[in-house]
Amino acid sequence: GYRKGGYHAVRPGDQFAEGRYIAQRKLGWGTFSTVWLAFDTTSSIFVALKIQRSAVEFAQAALHEIEFLTAIAEGDPSNSKCVIRLLDHFKHAGPNGQHICLVFEFLGDSLLRLIKYNHYKGIELSKVREICGSVLLALDYLHRELRIIHTDLKPENVLLISTINPAKDPVRSEFSPILERPEGNPNVGVVANVNEKKLWRKAKRAVAKISERRQSMEGISLQGRSLEGIDVRCKVVDFGNACWVDKQLMDAIQTRQYRAPEVILGAGYSFSADMWSFACVAFELATGDMLFVPKTGKGFDEDEDHLALMMELLGKIPRKIATGGSRSKDLFDRHGDLKRIRRLKSWPLYRILVEKYRFSNTDAREFSDFLLPIFDFAPEKRPTAEQCLQHPWLKSSNLKPNHENRDVGLEKSQSGMN
Ligand code: ATP
Ligand code: MG
Ligand code: MG
Repeated sequence: GYRKGGYHAVRPGDQFAEGRYIAQRKLGWGTFSTVWLAFDTTSSIFVALKIQRSAVEFAQAALHEIEFLTAIAEGDPSNSKCVIRLLDHFKHAGPNGQHICLVFEFLGDSLLRLIKYNHYKGIELSKVREICGSVLLALDYLHRELRIIHTDLKPENVLLISTINPAKDPVRSEFSPILERPEGNPNVGVVANVNEKKLWRKAKRAVAKISERRQSMEGISLQGRSLEGIDVRCKVVDFGNACWVDKQLMDAIQTRQYRAPEVILGAGYSFSADMWSFACVAFELATGDMLFVPKTGKGFDEDEDHLALMMELLGKIPRKIATGGSRSKDLFDRHGDLKRIRRLKSWPLYRILVEKYRFSNTDAREFSDFLLPIFDFAPEKRPTAEQCLQHPWLKSSNLKPNHENRDVGLEKSQSGMN
């Protein structure tokens, strides 16, 4: 990591772009980079500073990401399409070489952390609807307006923008011990090596504000509280693997559990591969479990197990599709049956939601009506993001805006009798 060609070591207070950005604390890291919370002294806002590893392949990857992020920002001047905004980029010389740095708007926790905080129990359906709405808005923009396929949609790559509604916020009083706990975020507020007192005070005030907001959110979730009072909005991030629909560089795309069947089969892909991942994410938010977790077994590999799991949930892959990919011959016989996994146990989505996740019949029916068309084995038959945005399941969030709504209570008690 921290050597030639590797990550750039950063300490709180380090300056970037001739002192414009001041590092505060590490937010996360990935294969390509480390990401820091930084204070932008020019705009007086907090930003996420992604410092790419210096080796040439990482620099190339950063330039690739910048190409997409620039198109995204140019096409959305009002920053309202639920996609991460690139604010700036520059080169930074360090002891390990030149690092390309990307400056993003600062966002909150990922959906993966949200699911974890909720103890993998699944998130309230009204919240899942809101999150799905944001992600679909992003996908519609990327697909229809920009002709971009994200290719790596998963909970980790959707970050929350959380705002706590102060009027309904029980956190302030109940969780003040957590908010004040010093070990919560030890580096927040630390701005070393900065001489100008004024700047330091400004930075400290703003950091304190942000850390309060973030910690109060973590406070609620860690206590297993519902996310009541949080307006859930989010943005799609990580364009390191994105591609233009007519200029695809890779056959193997997507993170395993979110991978579409046509990708496994080597049958080509388009925007609809993102839609498959989207439906997997929606299921995971609502239940707390990944939908498909394929494993290698005796005599079969992950790909085969993955296809078997899909067929157990969704029925047999039509023969034409099963036998139509460049990898089909390895996996399927000429009848369209898997060669090495012969016995499948059918467990359809609706029944899983009711039997395993204890959804009410109404909730299960509405949710599976929304998801099943997206899980079509024929990619061209899947609804587009634009079409999904019109689906009644998403619209029902407008009819039931909150918990006080009497219709919701009625529906719950009815389903309880079913
Ligand atoms: P990957 O291996 O996932 O491609 P990467 O090196 O490309 O990693 P990112 O996924 O872009 O890095 O970012 C790494 C982590 O940094 C994220 O998972 C997230 O926790 C955090 N992060 C990234 N961007 C932001 C942001 N704008 N605001 C807050 N945190 C962020
Ligand atoms: Mg990532
Ligand atoms: Mg990346």
